[in-house]
Amino acid sequence: MDIILDMYPKDLAANVFHDRFGQSPKHLVLAPGRVNLLGEHVDYNDGWVMPAAIDRSTWLAFSPVEEGDGLATLVAVDFAEQVSFNSEPIPAKTNLPEWARYPVGVAWAFRQAGLPAPVMLAAYASDVPRGAGLSSSASVEMAFGVALQTLAGQSIPAMQMALLGQKAENDYVGVNCGIMDQFASACGLRDHLLLLDCRSLAWRSLPLPDNLAIVIADTSVRRKLTVSAYNTRRQACEDAVRILSAELPGIRALRDVSLEAFNRFEDKLPGEPARRARHVVEELDRVQRAIPLLEQGDIQQFGRLMNECHASLRDLYEVSIPELDAMAEIARELPGCYGARLTGAGFGGCTVNLVAREQAETFSVELARRYQVRTNLAAEVYICRASDGARLVD
Ligand code: ADP
Ligand code: MG
Repeated sequence: MDIILDMYPKDLAANVFHDRFGQSPKHLVLAPGRVNLLGEHVDYNDGWVMPAAIDRSTWLAFSPVEEGDGLATLVAVDFAEQVSFNSEPIPAKTNLPEWARYPVGVAWAFRQAGLPAPVMLAAYASDVPRGAGLSSSASVEMAFGVALQTLAGQSIPAMQMALLGQKAENDYVGVNCGIMDQFASACGLRDHLLLLDCRSLAWRSLPLPDNLAIVIADTSVRRKLTVSAYNTRRQACEDAVRILSAELPGIRALRDVSLEAFNRFEDKLPGEPARRARHVVEELDRVQRAIPLLEQGDIQQFGRLMNECHASLRDLYEVSIPELDAMAEIARELPGCYGARLTGAGFGGCTVNLVAREQAETFSVELARRYQVRTNLAAEVYICRASDGARLVD
């Protein structure tokens, strides 16, 4: 397979489809990656998160398979790999390469839900960096979700689509993710942040001025300890809820504990659960305070909340590392930066920065330069914009 590296993923997906299958694809869909601006490590505490879909996406070119031929073919252009399989029934995941489990998992979730999952020929390519915390996996899932609903001639509400993607990742692929990633990829709105209640799944959008850029800076550090560190933090939050429920009967999660109540009863908690729970309770308070700020377009104050979030993740939740701290500190020294913080689970990955759009280019170059000087590591910096969610484009 010849791959032309400097093509956009949209053209790449369509061209490779044409080369491989000898026909033009019938349809093209895209599904974006996402970044979380505020509300970190609160999703599993039933809290509120504030992600945005970004303008980096998985592009999927596809056509239905002729009646009577159950053989599906998927081409992962970025991996230069393809797989063909009989999809009646959906194959066991152990018979598939790792990358194919995401799209096949979505078809599996559709059928589990009693929805038709038509057979397709497909080629896809993406400019969402993989494993950087920008949810390349959810963007693949939502692209295939939209493709399946297109072929089935159905209209599935975006939140239901997100839930199908989450089910695919949880129960077929076997990765224990929350709903935020698929939600943001499915429900994204141009120049808006999304506010999601992770308990009720109610959501709304909040405006982001269009003269702002969302700049994502990858430290290039990838840590392997994250699963156990994540589990111990979840456990600390659960311990805090159990102990606090003696004073606050009826609470189910830290989401139910106000900052005022927490201040009153914090001394009942041992040191570690106290620090972890304080982060969560204060972070949820920050999200609530962010809502009117965004409604009023007060980005200066919103940026301060992002900076406070970083300090809290560093000092109370203890999921930062020196490279993330350096990236956030350098960003705040640069002109045009309103706020900078680590985003995602931590221990590596990216920072997210809100930056005046006209300064975003110089900001990015200077951020990468100073980061390299300070850490001797190369940073990847992406200038993004809040974008619409997964959709059929052709
Ligand atoms: P992320 O944080 O980027 O979502 P994950 O580890 O959750 O990282 O998902 C990455 C996996 O998703 C990849 O190993 C691959 O299986 C699948 N994936 C992501 N992007 C692509 C792509 N462009 N082509 C094929 N598979 C992809
Ligand atoms: Mg993922």
